[in-house]
Amino acid sequence: MGFADLHIHSIYSADGTGTIPAILKHVADKTPLNVIAITDHDSMQGVQEAIQLAPRYGIEVIPGCEVSTAEGHLLALFINQSIKPGLSLLDTVLMIADQGGIAVAPHPMAKGTSSLKITTICQALENPLAAKVLVGVELFNGGLVYTRANPAVSRRLHQLDLAPVGNSDAHILPMIGRGSTWFEGLTSRDLYTALMNKQTVPQSGRGLDGWVVMKSYIPRYVLRKLGWAAWNASPEERIRYIRYAKHLMDQSGVYL
Ligand SMILES: [Zn+2]
Ligand SMILES: [Zn+2]
Repeated sequence: MGFADLHIHSIYSADGTGTIPAILKHVADKTPLNVIAITDHDSMQGVQEAIQLAPRYGIEVIPGCEVSTAEGHLLALFINQSIKPGLSLLDTVLMIADQGGIAVAPHPMAKGTSSLKITTICQALENPLAAKVLVGVELFNGGLVYTRANPAVSRRLHQLDLAPVGNSDAHILPMIGRGSTWFEGLTSRDLYTALMNKQTVPQSGRGLDGWVVMKSYIPRYVLRKLGWAAWNASPEERIRYIRYAKHLMDQSGVYL
């Protein structure tokens, strides 16, 4: 059996604090995860780096993105290019279909962040093509300070006919895997099959709470705004802090 966390933010999200190599090192050393998805807000800047480095860390990375649709956030997985934000849920799902990807509805109905309503998801699922692409929904999201588990979605899961998923929505390294999805097999292909067959099992974890925000998130966020982030030179070396903007410019010409 394998574990996946399909909702992780890196420094390519304005509120993310970990570089891609640091995320990979943390996953390899501190979590049982076999498969992760890097899902930055409306950006796939970190995905190529993650896919290239992942084998060195013994992890598989699914290319993804958290798309800001006009009706709430949507995780797009197994896609090649980022999807334009601001479209309706249905149009966004159909664009994901064009790329052969699939979608998961993150934190439905969550307050404090842009979230899809269950009625909006149901409407989109009336489109036969969309129903083949929008295949999963988060029952557990470790990144919400308040209601992390979603009883309303649990109650209507049968009606929704979606694969139940647990994710961390991590914006800091220690949150990764605090919310995950169990699936039969070990690879991203196995996970894809489990999602399509609605055979995933969400796992909860200690999510973000006020204490973690104060102790872990805010200091990292401040460091990130000052240009520093956790980074890793190779799987054999420890995670350390660097001035990441310079590093990224040297490596890939990217500047945040
Ligand atoms: Zn979100
Ligand atoms: Zn997110």
